[in-house]
Amino acid sequence: MKGRRLYLDGVSVVFDGFRALNNLALIVEPGELRAVIGPNGAGKTTMMDVITGKTRPTEGVVSFGDADLTRLDEAAIANLGIGRKFQKPTVFDALTVFENLELALKAPRGPLPCLRWALTGEAKSRIGATLREIGLEERAQDPAAILSHGQRQWLEIGMLLMQDPDLLLVDEPVAGMTDAETEHTARLLAGIAGRRSVVVVEHDLDFVRALNCRVTVLAEGSLLSEGSIDHVQKDERVIEVYLGR
Ligand code: ADP
Repeated sequence: MKGRRLYLDGVSVVFDGFRALNNLALIVEPGELRAVIGPNGAGKTTMMDVITGKTRPTEGVVSFGDADLTRLDEAAIANLGIGRKFQKPTVFDALTVFENLELALKAPRGPLPCLRWALTGEAKSRIGATLREIGLEERAQDPAAILSHGQRQWLEIGMLLMQDPDLLLVDEPVAGMTDAETEHTARLLAGIAGRRSVVVVEHDLDFVRALNCRVTVLAEGSLLSEGSIDHVQKDERVIEVYLGR
């Protein structure tokens, strides 16, 4: 197993006196798959922004292995092996599926420039393995522009995998997907975990159940509950603030 422990403790983010995160604690072990849920405004995006260096915490500890992430900029954090996928897929429409993976493989970690390179046999075999992993082997020579919404999301996950991250942060991957695409995505992310840590922010509780992993519930910038999906769904505080029942 590859990877380092993600550790957040006492993390607060204050915007103009408003606490978007309030004394948040989170530990994700190497190879762990973790789902993070919570109502709108709970602080899920701010948590991802703090891990990737997009937002500096006002106070608290954010570390990945030995590295203090509060002292690093976004590029340095990406270079440590922390990849982030935003909700909207950002793939290169004019390139084929294969070429998108090739680009991600050759580029420095982080946001991608649009360049082309000659391919070695080793690169081809890594791209082939990722095409199989994301389930797009048959679509390798198709332009990304003609993929379905779900396939574009998987391609982007594949592009992140080409950059060999230790920790993958995935923001609402199944929004707008069909049931079959949602199931495929759950299998894909569960298969990636173990070799890498994966943190998934998601609203769809059926999908979170399918991930079959530890669930963290945020509310008002703080940790509200943590445990299996059955545990958190029975927690009175979660029912009150999140499920509204
Ligand atoms: P979630 O992703 O769980 O919906 P966010 O992390 O986006 O929650 O937001 C948490 C809270 O912080 C929200 O009330 C939001 O309005 C506020 N917030 C987020 N970013 C900023 C910002 N740059 N300036 C002021 N308030 C912000």
